[in-house]
Amino acid sequence: MFSDRSTAHLTVQQLVATATGTLQPVSTTARLDAELLLAHTLNWSRTRLLAERTYMPDLSQIQVFQAFVQRRLNREPVAYIVGHRSFYGFDLLVDQRVLIPRPETEQLVERALEIAHRVWAHNHQHMRDRSIADVGTGSGAIAIALAKRLPEVCIYALDICPAALAVAQSNLVRYQLNQRVQLLQGDLLMPLSCPVDMIVSNPPYTILSAIHDDVRQHEPHLALDGGTDGLAVYRRLFKQAPQWLNPGGIVLVEIGATQATAVSALARTVFPQAQIEVYHDLAGHDRIVALQTKRR
Ligand code: GLN
Repeated sequence: MFSDRSTAHLTVQQLVATATGTLQPVSTTARLDAELLLAHTLNWSRTRLLAERTYMPDLSQIQVFQAFVQRRLNREPVAYIVGHRSFYGFDLLVDQRVLIPRPETEQLVERALEIAHRVWAHNHQHMRDRSIADVGTGSGAIAIALAKRLPEVCIYALDICPAALAVAQSNLVRYQLNQRVQLLQGDLLMPLSCPVDMIVSNPPYTILSAIHDDVRQHEPHLALDGGTDGLAVYRRLFKQAPQWLNPGGIVLVEIGATQATAVSALARTVFPQAQIEVYHDLAGHDRIVALQTKRR
């Protein structure tokens, strides 16, 4: 990308500009990527990068930066290169073992919190005896956000993949939640030992052949692959759900933008009496199916 001679006296501003040009063909966010990668290289905040535009990194720093830019050029997501990603205000460690938390999934957290407060807070049982299972927790993103915002609720974070649970564990420790959130390994809801009041999940729902190359090449297929029609995991999840949901229980799942009708119908076959709603993400796409079962 740069020859040693030409990089020896480059400023932060020039390095960002050059890397932005290099990344343009592979990234729609080339400048942001370049800034994040250089900030990570220098162990600076992005703000400092903008403030100290004329600083000249030394050659070894430039070499590290070049290696990061090269990885990005190979379409590796920035979050994996820098090793963390912000989700709902939390800075989470991420690597190839887990799906990178997406901004859309913050809507699932928002909606879960809104429903928990609306449905539980006015009830005599209140929050203390309530429980939530985050199915397919990955980095632990949803479980951590809910645990921090619902300090009285018992949270289980489930994943079939031990490697993903190791990442979730690091993130729980990072936020002093390892005593509060229980990690459980196994298929969907099977590792639970008793029913819960709310099930939340961002299950794999894509059709692998239809997704962006960057995502397919770098992120774990176990977290993405929803089978030939994208709905395979919802089918199994809803089949298991009645056994693991308390009366009046709530299920919230993230969905692909075209899956609202199909997932609602699946939910309806399993919970014929439930109240089912579809919510949009900030881009206006259908993103969440929420259902509340009847109290006995
Ligand atoms: N939102 C992710 C994507 O489009 C998919 C996440 C998932 O399958 N749960 O890449």
